Amino acid sequence: MRTVQAYRFALDLTPGQERAVFAHAGAARAAYNWALARVKAVMGQRAAERSYGVPDQQLTPVLGWSLAALRKAWNAAKAEVAPWWPQYSKEAFNTGLDALARGLTNWADSRTGKRAGRRVGFPRFKSRRRSRPAVRFTTGAIRVEPDRMHAVLPRLGRLKLHESARKLARRIEAGTARILSATVRRDRGRWHVAFTVEVDRAERTPARPDATVGVDVGIKNLAVLSTGELVPNPRHLNAASRRLRTLARRLSRRQGPDRRTRQQPSRRWQRTQKQLGRAHARVANLRRDGLHKLTTRLAATYATIVVEDLNVAGMLANRRLARHIADAGFGELRRQLTYKTGWGGGRLLVADRWYPSSKTCSGCGTVKTKLALSERTYRCQACGLVLDRDLNAARNLAALAAETTTAGSGPVAGRGADQKTPLAGRVAVKRLPGTTCSVGKTGTVPPQGGTTSHTLTKAH
Ligand SMILES: [Zn+2]
Repeated sequence: MRTVQAYRFALDLTPGQERAVFAHAGAARAAYNWALARVKAVMGQRAAERSYGVPDQQLTPVLGWSLAALRKAWNAAKAEVAPWWPQYSKEAFNTGLDALARGLTNWADSRTGKRAGRRVGFPRFKSRRRSRPAVRFTTGAIRVEPDRMHAVLPRLGRLKLHESARKLARRIEAGTARILSATVRRDRGRWHVAFTVEVDRAERTPARPDATVGVDVGIKNLAVLSTGELVPNPRHLNAASRRLRTLARRLSRRQGPDRRTRQQPSRRWQRTQKQLGRAHARVANLRRDGLHKLTTRLAATYATIVVEDLNVAGMLANRRLARHIADAGFGELRRQLTYKTGWGGGRLLVADRWYPSSKTCSGCGTVKTKLALSERTYRCQACGLVLDRDLNAARNLAALAAETTTAGSGPVAGRGADQKTPLAGRVAVKRLPGTTCSVGKTGTVPPQGGTTSHTLTKAH
């Protein structure tokens, strides 16, 4: 199986190398901003000409939005607008122009409905302060050194890796991987290099080809499985989260910058800000590590994995920290399971958004009309079942898979459905045991061969 995946390593840059990367990222931004200004100017000019009644064939010619067209325009103008251009790799300008071409395409596709999901806005200028510095190399000498502790990139030279790249190096030496590109980027105050790699993966099958597992992402635990297993949060996560709160509070009490009054931040504020950034990174790293271990194990073990379709974008608006982190983890869990089940030979089923997995009794199928988030234990009035809330939900999810297998597969989730489904909660109704899955949900498309992601819809 041939896949494209990323290998990402933290870098230890020397001050000189850091300056060089910053400069290249700046060059990328300059090309991006110049091209965006040009695109806007041409659009404005054409609109003005049209309003004067200039016939279409005499209008200012359009500036193409493809990378090739933008690059041609940039190359024609660079001597004038950026006489310093020979100091930088052409890949730097390419990085910026490619980002703009994608942004413009996404905007156009979103407008015409070709692109599903949330509306994409028109590209905006990148500021030095707000944008994340990055530069991508697609050609030239890109390699991992034989010592596996250094990467070589065009112009930037030999960069020290913070950790060994042996996993990637072994694959390259075995001839099962090929580097397509490398991006150097700063993430939360730390530099990383991400290699985009084409990998030949061995075909695999899950260890338990008949087993199904329902996964419910929790707050207290990382996840609860329908098998009754509680997957605890990674060690030290709670301590790291506590430190995050402490630092955020400390920061709010110190003198921060204010652009209106031109107040400079105090040194104490800057120091706390730096510590807070590192604490954020640590929490994120711990969670990501825990999630990766969980999803790898699930995809390697179970043939069928069932998760909920939660409205992650909507829930992220919630400001409670614990909830926020759990929700952010959910989107990531689903993303990882999607590609890992693809690699592992299993399948991922996604329950319909309105399926009341928490409110349904996993014993008799009765659905409660109300269940407060604070009720951590499910108590069924009908059959007297008493069960941990998350475990009950996980069992319902697993049961859902058994029903689809007998009733045939449901429709494939179209991303457009996420946008169209109204957010207001639908009233939970009694689930009729044994009902087949109803097909047909806004924005869903019929099943296609080889797809692993399905939406399970309950007849309400
Ligand atoms: Zn019950």
